[in-house]
Amino acid sequence: MTTKIIFFTGGVLSSVGKGVTAAAIGRLLKARGFNITIQKLDPYLNVDPGTLSPYQHGEVFVLDDGAETDLDLGHYERFCDLRLTRNSTVTTGQVYQEVLDRERRGDYLGGTIQVIPHITNEIKRRIALVGKASNAEIALVEVGGTVGDIEGQPFLEAIREMRNDLGRGNTAFVHLTWLPYLKATEETKTKPTQHSVRELRSIGILPDMIVARSDYPVEKALCAKIAQFCDVPAEAVIPLETANLLYRIPLILEEMRVAEILLDRLNLAPKQAPDLTEWRWMVQELDRQKPAVRIGLVGKYVELHDAYISVREAIKHAALYAGVDVEMEWISATDLEKGIGLERLEQVDGIVVPGGFGSRGVEGKIIAARFARERKLPYLGLCMGMQVMVIEFARSILGFSDANSSEFDKLTEHPVIDLMPEQANLVETGGTMRLGLYPCQIQADTLAARLYQREQVDERHRHRYEVNNSFREAFEQNGMVFSGLSPNRVLVEIAELREHPFMIGCQFHPEFLSRPTRPHPLFSGFIASVCERRGLPSEAHLPGS
Ligand code: GLN
Repeated sequence: MTTKIIFFTGGVLSSVGKGVTAAAIGRLLKARGFNITIQKLDPYLNVDPGTLSPYQHGEVFVLDDGAETDLDLGHYERFCDLRLTRNSTVTTGQVYQEVLDRERRGDYLGGTIQVIPHITNEIKRRIALVGKASNAEIALVEVGGTVGDIEGQPFLEAIREMRNDLGRGNTAFVHLTWLPYLKATEETKTKPTQHSVRELRSIGILPDMIVARSDYPVEKALCAKIAQFCDVPAEAVIPLETANLLYRIPLILEEMRVAEILLDRLNLAPKQAPDLTEWRWMVQELDRQKPAVRIGLVGKYVELHDAYISVREAIKHAALYAGVDVEMEWISATDLEKGIGLERLEQVDGIVVPGGFGSRGVEGKIIAARFARERKLPYLGLCMGMQVMVIEFARSILGFSDANSSEFDKLTEHPVIDLMPEQANLVETGGTMRLGLYPCQIQADTLAARLYQREQVDERHRHRYEVNNSFREAFEQNGMVFSGLSPNRVLVEIAELREHPFMIGCQFHPEFLSRPTRPHPLFSGFIASVCERRGLPSEAHLPGS
């Protein structure tokens, strides 16, 4: 079976929502019974985003197989309810690494290695692989960046060639652009769109659909103009005004028959009438005015919400099913450690401390953990958030005043969080963490057991450090319960406090597995506990309580 491919390119500007649009279209195709997959091509030279600062590209999203990927993969998984693999992520760095490795092995038998065809062939191989590996009928492939970027050229050349390679009717090209609005003349302009389409055509790619993003409503006449100048049928110019809710976008695109138009282009008939019942319910619920709870997210990159996008989404999913709205309070951990903004902790109904690396802000996160423990405020610690909860407990309850993670203090006598022996000798930074899905056994009669209602779960990881086993007994004797352990019982996966309504931390990242139509039990439990504290009739109370 040939996998048919829908390619997504962008023009005019980056950050106009190519990833979300591709993900939304994926949802619409899936709703019509197609087996789909989705892939992001990132033209930067990093081998993966794992080594990139969140300030550059936002959160690093981790897949089951441990691939560290762009945050768009999070949109794909959430919108399409998929579990992707490393086949779904391709960077220029990976492509070059592969080609250069082959060259060193002598695989090219003395040939000259060139961007065309060697780099482009490797890109094409990877695009073909994603569909094959998942047996997908349709693959959605997003080219990162904007048309005209020098580094994107080999990718555009590769996808241009694929139209011929696969034969007509097996590919469709969707081009996303931005329509700027000029206040002076009160006009929305199409010229940059025309230019970016011209640029695309000069490479040999003729778009089948243009999604015209804008902050303002786009009139029909403008769409007709775009259609005329860009050689796209009028029905395939899709105006997409900035939506107040990302999850509304599939429904907006559905109204404009986007899936039908693309299926037609791919010579496919829908396998079933689209089933979007659950999605519509979810969007309706998000729209409904509900009592709000305030969640404080204490992190180091709080100015940039994209750095915590999966955490924010997971909180929203859980709140939605509990029948409450969420007001996020972004609290800077570095401010807290300087004594700034402490009063903001007083104003929240629950605290989430997400993952993080490096010592900046750690003491602020420890302050937040102490506040939650002492005030009996619901607390959810994710990875580093669990580690600071353990450090705080060691300092305040076990009396180890210098307790720390050896990540932040190599000389402490109480490294309650430490490297596992096999990690200790690693010198490289990229891809050297405990990454991806690992099993976790839930201990009976614990909060974790009540939340999960299962004996074993698999969760996604991304960390180097672990709870130090030499201190485990001291913790357990003093009220900390290690309620999730690796099957060999060597690694602590979940820690919780006995004398607290809801203080729990996990060494993994549950946020990556939360879905808008299926919130994660740890987040649901956290929100239910927040609701209980506020006396709100949460519609999803703690299971079993
Ligand atoms: N820096 C910590 C570690 O490597 C936590 C990582 C994280 O929060 N993702 O273990």
